[in-house]
Amino acid sequence: MTIPTETDVLIVGGGPAGALLGCLLARRGINVLVAEKQASLAREFRGETIAAPSVVTLHRLGFGPALGERGYLRTAAVSMRMEGRQVMRVDYGRFPVGQLPIDIPQPSLIGVFNEAARSLPGYAYAPGTSFTRLLERDGTVRGAVLRQQDGSSVEVRARLVVGADGRFSKVRKEAGLTARIQPMERDFLWIKLPRPADWGNDAELVVDRDKHLVVLPTFPDYLRIGHNIPKRGMGALRKEGLEAFRAGIAAIDPRLGPLLEEHVRTWDDTGFLEIFTAEVDQWARDGLVLIGDASHTCTPILGQGVNLALQDSVCLSPLIARALDRTKPQDPVPASEFSEFIASRRKHKQLVTRFQRIQEAALAKHTPLQTLVRRARFRTLDRLPLKYALFNKVINAPHAVDPADLRAPAPVRP
Ligand SMILES: Cc1cc2nc3c(=O)[nH]c(=O)nc-3n(C[C@H](O)[C@H](O)[C@H](O)COP(=O)(O)OP(=O)(O)OC[C@H]3O[C@@H](n4cnc5c(N)ncnc54)[C@H](O)[C@@H]3O)c2cc1C
Repeated sequence: MTIPTETDVLIVGGGPAGALLGCLLARRGINVLVAEKQASLAREFRGETIAAPSVVTLHRLGFGPALGERGYLRTAAVSMRMEGRQVMRVDYGRFPVGQLPIDIPQPSLIGVFNEAARSLPGYAYAPGTSFTRLLERDGTVRGAVLRQQDGSSVEVRARLVVGADGRFSKVRKEAGLTARIQPMERDFLWIKLPRPADWGNDAELVVDRDKHLVVLPTFPDYLRIGHNIPKRGMGALRKEGLEAFRAGIAAIDPRLGPLLEEHVRTWDDTGFLEIFTAEVDQWARDGLVLIGDASHTCTPILGQGVNLALQDSVCLSPLIARALDRTKPQDPVPASEFSEFIASRRKHKQLVTRFQRIQEAALAKHTPLQTLVRRARFRTLDRLPLKYALFNKVINAPHAVDPADLRAPAPVRP
């Protein structure tokens, strides 16, 4: 495709945040270019869980039928087993939100947004196109330089550049917006296994002292297993060998033993995820705003990464439309237009991170006394009505958006 050299909004990154924002802006008749580094939607495993509030929102935005056509799995509950005993189960059907969380491969999710936007006037999608640097004048962002697949560069002028380029955001770096990276004590190794027919639809956290597995039923017929490993522990793990790795997982959850034997044959059957949180003090500059993982990276606990990314886009799209209308044509959008957005989204993300840190600390306990106390605590929480109130606050936090902005489809500006 020929990349437009001028647009209202240039979105760098076509992950869940960038793809949805591109579609919502195009629906409003705003000229938008989504530049995505990867040439195809096929991608290594990423977060595939969409929390219930975002499922509600996607339906309100009219994406329900398209999501249904691609296919997804509803998650019934999250349950927790510790040292072989179930200590807690949270039934997602008991929350007032009215939808269950779903598990959908990222290429399907992003494909739904791209497909809905494809034929809208003013929308352009540039796959295989990487952001290299910002165009700036007088301290204001005016666009960006993109590198195309053939190695050539193109300058794109935009009234707003949106950095939606994920956890290692180059836009953030080039804009001089610093992220405070806080590594978690452990990293993760992911594997995907065929799901036995009688497995059920609970997301499970299986804990044995300071080792744990996240076991997620995944569309169409997989289990995604996340296994915590020590920080910088990949080398030692490889040295011990694949057999020991498989045995270690089977010791935590014996049901997985035969599946691992059959389906994890090389280290290529595993995927590494470095776990850290990133806090960014400043999310916007004149002419630029960050969203999704670029503005705040969280951990995989409770599968909130995609949820937060989608909510950013839903909340931001009406504000961008308003800001473009309020700013003189051709002028960059001032950062002040996004102050409220940033304050409210930051609050939500901080709540999630705080909860994730508490969980991570609990999962790192390993002495017999510590694990006994931990089991007792979770069992007690399991019996209290407070359990649903607490989880509801973290995973079903509503996002501040005018219901009128969730009409399906949103109006196209003349
Ligand atoms: C291996 C892995 C496992 C994960 N597991 C979970 C999980 O279990 N649960 C959970 O909730 N979350 C998980 N996450 C996080 C989740 O995937 C993210 O929170 C979510 O995808 C964030 O969406 P995003 O659009 O902000 O960023 P991303 O999904 O990271 O998308 C960013 C996009 O920007 C593109 N890009 C990057 N640099 C450039 C550039 N220079 N120019 C142009 N494009 C660029 C990338 O190709 C990508 O498509 C995982 C992430 C990874 C990497």
